[in-house]
Amino acid sequence: MKIIDRLKEDKIHISFEVFPPKTDEGYDKVVRAVDEISRLDPAFISVTYGAGGGTSRNTAKIASHIKDDLGVLSLAHLTCASSTKEEVRTVIGNLEKLGIENILALRGDIPEGMKFPDADRFRYAYELVEEIKKHGDFCIGAACYPEGHVENEHKADDIRYLKQKVDCGVDFLTTQMFFDNDIHYNFLYRIREAGISVPVLPGIMPITSAAQMKKSQQLSGTVFPRRFLAILDRFGSSPAAMRQAGIAYATDQIIDLLANGVKNIHIYSMNKPDIAAAIMENLSEIIKA
Ligand SMILES: Cc1cc2nc3c(=O)[nH]c(=O)nc-3n(C[C@H](O)[C@H](O)[C@H](O)COP(=O)(O)OP(=O)(O)OC[C@H]3O[C@@H](n4cnc5c(N)ncnc54)[C@H](O)[C@@H]3O)c2cc1C
Repeated sequence: MKIIDRLKEDKIHISFEVFPPKTDEGYDKVVRAVDEISRLDPAFISVTYGAGGGTSRNTAKIASHIKDDLGVLSLAHLTCASSTKEEVRTVIGNLEKLGIENILALRGDIPEGMKFPDADRFRYAYELVEEIKKHGDFCIGAACYPEGHVENEHKADDIRYLKQKVDCGVDFLTTQMFFDNDIHYNFLYRIREAGISVPVLPGIMPITSAAQMKKSQQLSGTVFPRRFLAILDRFGSSPAAMRQAGIAYATDQIIDLLANGVKNIHIYSMNKPDIAAAIMENLSEIIKA
């Protein structure tokens, strides 16, 4: 089944993201986490794609396990900056052989020291979207950035390029993590005005430790509101308190989104089924209402 068909249903959908192991030794541990997350009745589970090496190989393997063994829709991420066009085509062919119908098409971060652009590689995600469309009947998702992508100084350009990407055949968008819902509402308003009408899944990252917050900030350049910084300041040194506060903050963000008419939420569950389960428990009646 295609994710876009599920998103069209008139109900609330909560999905989760997991990442594959860095080494083959870590595979079983990740599969155990995925199995637990699948019991939370997610709309789908997405599997990230690393910049080369074992993690990329394991993306397809875990996405197949989710679909075939757990009976849950899976979304395989695919990046193009770190691979040649031929390598990307091979991965798409493999996904097709495995019966994976849903791909999140991404450029990926440009590996350090790499000469880019390079004629042998896709330069932007929209080129990858075009390539995937040539291969078969996939449902294609793509990334978007409510605070703007870090490489692009001008938000208006970012939205113009997003429109170009969507027009190449993107069925839905998932956002970069954000911690202030007003930024998301503003972004939605601007992209709808720009003529982007596909479903947008807000990406919610439960931050449950000070170290995780630092890493998220480095990766995404996201703005942490004062309300969040106060939580970190007061509870950051107590792991148990920070975990509880992080779960509460993410829950609060989701409740606000649902109360404002958002129907689809993507949770960056970071292979932590206990945190995913705690959020779902907090939402148990809310998602039925
Ligand atoms: C939901 C989500 C999931 C992700 N999953 C992964 C993952 O699994 N693995 C991973 O390695 N990374 C992942 N990323 C990170 C992502 O790969 C990086 O943010 C990357 O830098 C940009 O990827 P993109 O697909 O958004 O690129 P693009 O859409 O190609 O955009 C990249 C930059 O180029 C600009 N641009 C686009 N088109 C043009 C154009 N025609 N001319 C000039 N400029 C243009 C954009 O404005 C932007 O600044 C994810 C991000 C998100 C939000």
